[in-house]
Amino acid sequence: MAGKTFFIDTTKCTACRGCQIACKQWNMNPATKTTQKGSHQNPEDLSFSTFKLVRFSELEENEKPVWYFFADQCRHCLEPPCMYTAQSLGVKAITRDEATGAVLYDPKVKVKAADAKTIRESCPWNIPRWDQKTTGMAKCTMCIDRVKEGLLPACVKTCPTGTMNFGERAKMLEMANKRLQEVKAKYPKAQLLNAEIVRTIYLVIDDPQKYHKFASAENSEEITRIAAIKRLIRPLVNFSHFAG
Ligand code: SF4
Ligand code: SF4
Repeated sequence: MAGKTFFIDTTKCTACRGCQIACKQWNMNPATKTTQKGSHQNPEDLSFSTFKLVRFSELEENEKPVWYFFADQCRHCLEPPCMYTAQSLGVKAITRDEATGAVLYDPKVKVKAADAKTIRESCPWNIPRWDQKTTGMAKCTMCIDRVKEGLLPACVKTCPTGTMNFGERAKMLEMANKRLQEVKAKYPKAQLLNAEIVRTIYLVIDDPQKYHKFASAENSEEITRIAAIKRLIRPLVNFSHFAG
């Protein structure tokens, strides 16, 4: 499987939010008004104009505060459930770039609220967002305009710690597996999240749920199976009931 892949090594993340800001800047996404909710995480969630978000999970373990940082973004799935779901609904907003594997949304395509909900719910990682005003959908673009020019995605270029990595899939998988072996010696629960089905591979050292509710797709095998079935029967039936 060729194409590009991100490797996000959460063990190196300091939650500086440089990636989050670089994403906003490159995509010319406006700042949004936010409210202090008692957490360092800001804004509260991904949105139509926030494609990258550093999640702060603040827990208490052995009577000590512990932080789990998770630089969340689209996984650019190899077989994207969102794209197949959109196709089943006749929504022409989502395509895949064959050279890189980037899953791309056209925010100018209008999507009905009900269809947007079905598409969002088909994503195991809860990524796509719909804008009530424009009725378009948006998410991480893999900085496809930069990548096509041989540049790194803005978040990767900005990250000062080596958390964010990007390149040819085989090289990223090799880097991820090597790093996994290194950290496993100290953290036996270390794992790569859904590496076989996504182009954004996270390395975590603890239960993925501690980082973020949607950090890992619980039933990833089933998701792949459903995506494969959809692909086969797409011309024959409307299978929107598969979504979710
Ligand atoms: S992570 Fe979600 S939005 Fe991104 S390609 Fe996969 S299904 Fe689509
Ligand atoms: S730029 Fe790198 S270190 Fe800073 S929050 Fe993003 S992933 Fe973490």
